[in-house]
Amino acid sequence: MTEILQEKSVCLQDKETSVNFIQQLPKVELHLHIEGTLEPEMMFALAERNGVTLPYNSEEEVRAAYQFSNLQSFLDIYYQGANVLLHEQDFYDLTWAYLERCHQDNVIHTEIFFDPQTHTERGVPFEVVINGIVRALDDAKDKFGISSGIIMCFLRHLDEASAFETLDQALPFKHHIVGVGLDSSELGHPPEKFRRVFEKARQEGFIAVAHAGEEGPVSNIYDSLELLKVSRIDHGVRCVDDEELVTSLAQSRMPLTVCPLSNIKLKVFDKMAQHNIVDLLRKGLCVTINSDDPAYFGGYMTDNFLAVDHCHHLSREELAQFTLNAIEASFISEEQKQQLVDRLDAYMAG
Ligand SMILES: [Zn+2]
Repeated sequence: MTEILQEKSVCLQDKETSVNFIQQLPKVELHLHIEGTLEPEMMFALAERNGVTLPYNSEEEVRAAYQFSNLQSFLDIYYQGANVLLHEQDFYDLTWAYLERCHQDNVIHTEIFFDPQTHTERGVPFEVVINGIVRALDDAKDKFGISSGIIMCFLRHLDEASAFETLDQALPFKHHIVGVGLDSSELGHPPEKFRRVFEKARQEGFIAVAHAGEEGPVSNIYDSLELLKVSRIDHGVRCVDDEELVTSLAQSRMPLTVCPLSNIKLKVFDKMAQHNIVDLLRKGLCVTINSDDPAYFGGYMTDNFLAVDHCHHLSREELAQFTLNAIEASFISEEQKQQLVDRLDAYMAG
């Protein structure tokens, strides 16, 4: 009896140590849609501030609506929520709230997505969006020491002409934007549709990334690599449908920005225990952990790490490897990467 009790208490201690270790582990986020950090509380506050009517009566009602059956059912609610974002200060407040969470979760570098078309299509000017986001990121650098980058995504359910128009709008703000991406409904909107836009974006000096192989087929991963010439694949978990692809992703160290809680919420996997991220890590792929749209999917960076560890029991070195992979995959200079590696090393040594 005493032995069992002792064992239980050791287990509990281990669990607590692991939670603390994960909480304090330096993290790097590479797949985060800033519009997806809009918490119901802020949705209501901004709706009131801006005189926007929401189709919900309470924050609880909003949360209750977050039961998704697939990617599209989420996107419908996501675009509706974004309607409360109208002024530069709104985008500042939204981004700042996310950065405070980063600070709590020990995120030391983040590369965030924004969807200009979600706003410009409603008549909100491009510069209103970018100026609010940039101001918050600058403040987070000063106040929390969090470095960052911005990636502008094209909505793949809209047409090529709209993407070209968005690219033109972005050119005066090129110094603020490191890359272009592709998000929204993957099914029915293959990479080929945006081949020419990505070509122009790369000529303008933007690095390319794309969502592929989340709900869509393996061919979307191949086409993102070959036609869009991406430097990272966002999600990419369907790569396991093609063994040759898995081997080549491991050899090339092509990063996959994986979002575990998102994948469960949108039913890409039924349960976290079935998620393939740890298997891919152990096969040598450059996989990273990210929160995607944390206000909608039930958790920020620490929550995602905890959820994966809870079901897959990782060693400390494996947990740290996710950060190392994200540093390797980030769009910063070698010198900046080394600074982040030094911070991780100091943590592991301490
Ligand atoms: Zn995403």
